Amino acid sequence: MHEMAIAQSVLEIVLDECRRHRMKTVDRINVQVGALAAVVPEALTFCFQVVAQGTPAENAALDIETVPVVMRCPLCGELFEMEDRLDMCPQCGPVVSGLSLISGREMTVMSIEGRGSDDGA
Ligand SMILES: [Zn+2]
Repeated sequence: MHEMAIAQSVLEIVLDECRRHRMKTVDRINVQVGALAAVVPEALTFCFQVVAQGTPAENAALDIETVPVVMRCPLCGELFEMEDRLDMCPQCGPVVSGLSLISGREMTVMSIEGRGSDDGA
């Protein structure tokens, strides 16, 4: 399952941050997922709960935001959001090749909220 791999990547980043900031409990994780990644938020949440078991993130709420696919036209340099066609520039029309993907494929952990070990503060 595709979401399982993404959940594992999210968990790795989160656990890394936990070590860095000495967090014992993670409450909330904000994740941005590109539209091209075609992630089903419910499935990702489920997978995350599975992989996070026994870690400081096991009870964390996962906030998933889907970001649009943004392309750049090689002819006019225009940045535009992809609707349903990958090869259309709003200025130039159909573009045969050379469109660059600016965003939309990646998964980014935007922020992590958690609590430290000392006194729960
Ligand atoms: Zn163009």
